[in-house]
Amino acid sequence: MAVAVEADKLTKQYRDKPALQDVSFTVPGGSALGLVGPNGAGKSTLLRMLLGVSRPSSGRILYDGRPLWPDPARVMDAVGGFVDAPQFYPYFTARENLSMLAELRRLKPGRVDEVLHYVHLEDDAGRRVGGFSHGMRQRLGIAAALLKEPGLLILDEPQDGLDPARLEEMRQLIIRIRQDLAPTIIMSSHVLQDIERLCDRIAVFDRGRLRYCGPTGGLGNPDGDEVIWEVRPIDMALHHLRSMGFEVWAIGDGRIAARWDESHELGSINVSLISAGITIRTVMRRSASLESRLLRYLEDDHVDMR
Ligand code: ADP
Repeated sequence: MAVAVEADKLTKQYRDKPALQDVSFTVPGGSALGLVGPNGAGKSTLLRMLLGVSRPSSGRILYDGRPLWPDPARVMDAVGGFVDAPQFYPYFTARENLSMLAELRRLKPGRVDEVLHYVHLEDDAGRRVGGFSHGMRQRLGIAAALLKEPGLLILDEPQDGLDPARLEEMRQLIIRIRQDLAPTIIMSSHVLQDIERLCDRIAVFDRGRLRYCGPTGGLGNPDGDEVIWEVRPIDMALHHLRSMGFEVWAIGDGRIAARWDESHELGSINVSLISAGITIRTVMRRSASLESRLLRYLEDDHVDMR
């Protein structure tokens, strides 16, 4: 059964430094929430609290209306996942590692092979985990999380450090889990395209505060087109386009993006930029990406998402 999650005024203080401040959100059962934000924004801190390994300084976490703290063991049965990176005994095989977990949780012995098969690790089940690639460890981490058929699955950067082929495998695995098991999912990621593809909701963190939580489409204009210019100097180009009445913002790597509609004439705008002394390296028109919408949303504070 999918677990609905509610965080209510969550705060985490490390000595004198707040890592999370007054964070409240809800995740409907069966939906997938993607956490994004620059390094140090508080995503892992939140995931540790949701997994019952770090206690909030104040505030509450409710799973299906039941408080997680102060006694996480009571409700953790429905929760699986990992934070930072999945941990295993390197000298034991994948099957031995999972069998120890299954025994601790009093699961039926056949469950271990079921989950190894599900994440496509059946052929490597007898190998020591110490020799596993990063991608195999990530999949084994998900297999461990699935042992109990969780109603809430928590994944910290499951795509982190994967090469493009393994990245696609991981995406497919998460899509399959959503289709087959329909748990509630909370996952963090730096890959914004993945959040857009795998999650239906997004939570944007910045310096310990939650800046946005809601449907991914709720950030700006999901269907609109935009034009991306690679220009020098950026500030001058921003100023020039704004003085012409454009909604325009910086998206990193020397690029700026403007909301676009058919009434604009790109050629004459480029001429006007060049006449103003601005160098245009590339111009591209595309539908607005989540990355661009997010950067625009955070632009007021000039948050660097990279
Ligand atoms: P993110 O996962 O978004 O990169 P974190 O949750 O890891 O962010 O960190 C949020 C803030 O809390 C950072 O300033 C970080 O340095 C601090 N922090 C995280 N864990 C600890 C800890 N165990 N002790 C002290 N400070 C910590």
